[in-house]
Amino acid sequence: MDAGTILVFGAFILGLGSIGFLVVRLTNRRLNGLGWLGGAFAIGGIGALLLLYGSLSPILNVLLADLCTLLAFFLLHIAAIELTSDDPLLSPFSIALIVLLASVDILRMDGHVSGSARIAAISLTVAAQCFSTCWLLWRAARQKVRDPALFCSALLFLFAAFNLLRGIGAAAGLLARWNIAKQVGLTAFALYIAVALGLAFGFFWLTTTSFSAQLEDAAGTDPLTRLYNRRTFLRACEKELHTSAHHRRSFSVLMVDLDHFKTVNDSFGHPVGDLALLAVVECMQNSVRGIDVLARWGGEEFAALLPNSSAEAAFIVAERMRNNIADIEVPVPERSPGDPAFLRITASIGIATYQPTDSIQTLLSRADRGLYLAKDSGRNRTLASHT
Ligand code: GH3
Ligand code: MG
Ligand code: MG
Repeated sequence: MDAGTILVFGAFILGLGSIGFLVVRLTNRRLNGLGWLGGAFAIGGIGALLLLYGSLSPILNVLLADLCTLLAFFLLHIAAIELTSDDPLLSPFSIALIVLLASVDILRMDGHVSGSARIAAISLTVAAQCFSTCWLLWRAARQKVRDPALFCSALLFLFAAFNLLRGIGAAAGLLARWNIAKQVGLTAFALYIAVALGLAFGFFWLTTTSFSAQLEDAAGTDPLTRLYNRRTFLRACEKELHTSAHHRRSFSVLMVDLDHFKTVNDSFGHPVGDLALLAVVECMQNSVRGIDVLARWGGEEFAALLPNSSAEAAFIVAERMRNNIADIEVPVPERSPGDPAFLRITASIGIATYQPTDSIQTLLSRADRGLYLAKDSGRNRTLASHT
């Protein structure tokens, strides 16, 4: 196959891909990254068309085509940034690469630079840009977008490695000496198309995975406190019940209800009530271990799952939490005369510890009964119900 056929095919694929990405992005504004990716495909396609049909001088066509190619990888980098919420949008490194490539191409117009030097410049700058995006995606391969981020990162790494070798080969004059410049050039064109197709798939995978992770996150957490909600908490409890039954070990749950919280809202207003809730949540987080699971059960009521904790251990945690909450001083903004500078909050806590006959419902009902015993016996205390 000759270079012209590959370029026509490439421009066609890039053009279709670009339209596809832009349509998907415009009809769903939450799908991050696809707009930039559509732009990258469009610029890449223009680059291929310039090489084929550019009506300027041949060197000027090549200069613009080179810049379009590098710019396409720069836009791909921005797409990756948008998807992973990484670095600032305009990377100085990418801009330096564009300036470097433009300088080499401009020098070539005056005959100061040879064709191989231009091949070296485009290959090495594309390699550097791809390595930088590859590194960004590698770092972003957190649990939720791990597979697609690793896929895109690996693809970019291989493509960058090819360009690095091609660039070094051109700079050292090896391609000309071994008479393989043409074959390597054709392989490069074909690889551009293969990588574009692979990245189209990879970025689509990345975008949809990241979007569904965001949706899952939103469905499983409480918007005010960012704690897990009841649904996620129950799921964690079911999982813990199976693990604990399997390993014949104990775990406990706490039900925490703030005392007379209605009077906080009535006296200081709902926004101050919200601030107080956030202060309590921070305090509860500081009172438990990393493996414990905290959740907002509803309103001013919270639940905690304490894996691998006996009744005695759970009582110690609950008392630490209760005392820490009682020590909180929530500043009162816009006070009326006579209002205190700080408000204080207390909590009542019910505890239940897993027994082999328990289901999650029976366990939580026991914790709830403990909570109501604590309320009935004067509040600001921790109690367990034995029935
Ligand atoms: P008790 O000691 O018996 O638990 O008394 P209480 O006042 O805490 O209980 P009650 O159930 O009567 O009132 C709960 C209050 O919690 C009423 C409600 O306005 C408040 N509340 C629930 N969710 C929120 C919230 O998200 N923000 C604010 N500011 N208040 C909330
Ligand atoms: Mg309450
Ligand atoms: Mg309540």
